[in-house]
Amino acid sequence: MAGHRQLEVVWFKRDLRVSDHAPLAEACARARSTGGQILGFYAIEPSVIRSSDFSGRHWAAAREALAELRQNLTRLGVSLAVRTGEVVELLERLRTHAAGRGTKLALWSHEETGNAVTYARDRAVRRWAQTQSVEWNERTQTGVVRRLPSRDGWAAAWEGRMRAPISAVPDPSFGWTHVEPGELPTLAELQLAADPCPNRQNSGEAAARELLDSFLIHRGRNYSGEMSSPRTAANACSRLSVPLALGTISMRTVVQSAHARMDELQAAREVGAPSDGYRIGSVRSLIARLHWHCHFMQKLEDEPRIETQSFVSAFDGLRAADLTGDRVERLAAWAAGRTGYPLIDACMRSLRTTGWINFRMRAMLMSFASYDLWLPWRESGVELARLFTDYEPGIHWSQVQMQSGTTGINTLRMYSPLKQSLDQDPSGEFIRRWVPELAAVPEVYIHEPRRMTAEAEKAAGCEIGRDYPRPVVDHKEAVRQAREKFSEVTKRPEHRAETQSVLRMHGSRKRPGDKASEERRTKRPRRAASDTVDDQLELGV
Ligand SMILES: Cc1cc2nc3c(=O)[nH]c(=O)nc-3n(C[C@H](O)[C@H](O)[C@H](O)COP(=O)(O)OP(=O)(O)OC[C@H]3O[C@@H](n4cnc5c(N)ncnc54)[C@H](O)[C@@H]3O)c2cc1C
Repeated sequence: MAGHRQLEVVWFKRDLRVSDHAPLAEACARARSTGGQILGFYAIEPSVIRSSDFSGRHWAAAREALAELRQNLTRLGVSLAVRTGEVVELLERLRTHAAGRGTKLALWSHEETGNAVTYARDRAVRRWAQTQSVEWNERTQTGVVRRLPSRDGWAAAWEGRMRAPISAVPDPSFGWTHVEPGELPTLAELQLAADPCPNRQNSGEAAARELLDSFLIHRGRNYSGEMSSPRTAANACSRLSVPLALGTISMRTVVQSAHARMDELQAAREVGAPSDGYRIGSVRSLIARLHWHCHFMQKLEDEPRIETQSFVSAFDGLRAADLTGDRVERLAAWAAGRTGYPLIDACMRSLRTTGWINFRMRAMLMSFASYDLWLPWRESGVELARLFTDYEPGIHWSQVQMQSGTTGINTLRMYSPLKQSLDQDPSGEFIRRWVPELAAVPEVYIHEPRRMTAEAEKAAGCEIGRDYPRPVVDHKEAVRQAREKFSEVTKRPEHRAETQSVLRMHGSRKRPGDKASEERRTKRPRRAASDTVDDQLELGV
């Protein structure tokens, strides 16, 4: 570095925080030791914001988090430059500008497991950095392992990463770089379509910490018992998916805080101290789910093609990809919450307004789109990706395929909307809240309003077919047909070989090195076909 001043550029992506941010901490430490300068950088990339899976609410959430990040960085003496453009072009401009002042650039960032667009962009940045001799230091922030040779031992590696020390927030004030900070553009300025999401959760770093604390102290008290019903889940679930997707909190922070809380609860239990009804199992269950977070992301990291292609290729032709005729209408009815199935519609409308819905209801929505409506998973998956403010491509596409039956290693789960309605919203409270046209429908009809007599319709002020749609499909008949079509594919001899290879590559090894489970996995692939994670989900929710 002799003869050169150095500018340490911290490139923020899905890590919009100052706490436990290794690239920021290391870049600051180096600037301090070399007398160099430091700059935060965020790119609003046209290729990303124009992707089919990106939506206005995603930008609204990122914008809110960026505003807070900028304030926090300013307190540390770091300026955050926000620019619109493709990353390589922006970085090259910055590099030449710095070079003109005798300054050399070094880039710091976290690894990202994103969609095909960000994957291609990261490779372009790598090429640029090599060509221009720019040092690019990438650090991990989840349990996802790059170039993973095998899933064996992955769980232990995850534990190791999560136990690693938290990066301290850097000390303030040194090496400030004077740049034009750049406005945080509005949706209109970015020419993104309006995407009202009035009940979207706050996505900043402080809100993330509050969510974690409130969950560990009181909200998660009865996590397992309340996570499945949409009536209770919004409060009982951790709601950490948004902060984790935006990176306003680190996974390590969540895991370490959870372990500390577990120790505290255990110690209280040993001395018979009151725990205010908070179950240790809640914290254990949260930790297991954080593990799954990375387990699913790892699938996309290992096989980026699963964003658009089925895990098992034979399933690609199952549901015709081109949406025509009544399937276009079915997709529109599903997306608008007008299928004539009250719980499906209530969940979809709630999701549109809040940007979030709990796991079981996500699985049910996806299952309905894939089995009942026979829609290609990519189409309905994109629709959900745009609605989820916690959209995380690795989890999303793995789950979308899992709930559509195309992984080959998970049991087909065709959720009955009626059963879910009776189980999860017995009195119809959630349905009435989100489907106001059913507000006055009595309990006896709320799960199947199509059964209302003319008198009941009149009394409820809701005529089926006019005020609320008739069911778009007959559930029993639709799933019968779906099962038939699936069994036709799974009978083919090549199917077995392909599912075995999917299992080898992506199946979770519950206990690393567990010989018995290894044998089960390799010798009896069809029994082992229900991926452990999936089994646990079914038991857990
Ligand atoms: C079709 C479908 C699509 C999904 N898409 C996404 C997505 O884009 N982004 C996303 O974060 N989650 C996704 N999930 C998983 C899960 O539904 C959400 O993580 C969860 O509902 C978020 O709420 P929470 O933070 O309160 O979770 P909690 O139930 O409190 O769980 C805590 C954390 O564990 C992780 N987690 C929980 N369940 C799962 C799971 N099944 N798989 C992987 N990680 C899990 C998440 O990080 C979550 O924040 C999807 C599930 C389905 C069925």
